[in-house]
Amino acid sequence: MSETEREKNAVTGGTLYLVATPIGNLADVSERAVKVLSEVGFVAAEDTRNSGLLLSRLGIRRPLVAYHEHNRATAGKAIVERLKNGESCALVTDAGTPAISDPGEDLVGLCAAEGIPVTTVPGCCAAVSALAVSGLPTRRFFFEGFLPTRSGERRERLSAVAEQRETVILYEAPHRLLRTLSDLCAVCGEERRAVICRELTKLNEETKRGTLRELSDHFTENPPRGEFVIVLDGCRETPTPFDSMTPREHVDHYVSLGMSENDAIKAAARDRGVPKNEIYSAVKIK
Ligand code: SAM
Repeated sequence: MSETEREKNAVTGGTLYLVATPIGNLADVSERAVKVLSEVGFVAAEDTRNSGLLLSRLGIRRPLVAYHEHNRATAGKAIVERLKNGESCALVTDAGTPAISDPGEDLVGLCAAEGIPVTTVPGCCAAVSALAVSGLPTRRFFFEGFLPTRSGERRERLSAVAEQRETVILYEAPHRLLRTLSDLCAVCGEERRAVICRELTKLNEETKRGTLRELSDHFTENPPRGEFVIVLDGCRETPTPFDSMTPREHVDHYVSLGMSENDAIKAAARDRGVPKNEIYSAVKIK
């Protein structure tokens, strides 16, 4: 190893290290991850019990602090103070790359705002692994992560996902997989192709390809167990000039061609594949 490489690999005080950990297969931990985890002042973990087990399996003993969804405001400030005082910290999540669909995002934001150096020790990420094995176009992709559970926000994200032209990557918990597949069938159509990656890197790893309907049927017959990534093919429908119009603009377009407002509403509803009442309400609300 050259002098420059040695220097780059030395753990520096006052730095936050984002250390990727395996998403299931312990053999995927990198040599550098082990080195950094062994040498930092302390490790901030989403679940100290899980990460404690990982550290002990790697033969590492470092102090652990909890940093998770429910304590991120107070724990985040405390970690930042320790970093400012010159300690080094490794942030790990339950699995994969910290800050991707987990509260690490906030800690990195805090450090960035305070001018604290943040550096990466890259490795596994379920999203990238699933995309790579999916067989769907990878040149451009859209990462959605978990869909919201609250109905209004969920509807909004589902329609954004349905319209994406690029491959979309979604995370999902096993108990919500069937509901999400059924929602995706409703917004994307049952024939849209998708790939479901289950338990990547683990003994029961499975990659299932098919239409949303086929996948939904498969997981109805085989109740979902384990961890899942849904990789959804992009929307292939040709855009119409109406896609970028609001309902009001769409109706006005037909009115400007000489139609009555009522006929224009009917025509706009037909173009958009929605009930007439939906357009009627949208254009009548001032
Ligand atoms: N930060 C992580 C990463 O880099 O992939 C993701 C964290 S997110 C809280 C956890 C989600 O990742 C799971 O619900 C699942 O959707 C996905 N996931 C994690 N491990 C997986 C695996 N081995 N196989 C399939 N999906 C996995």
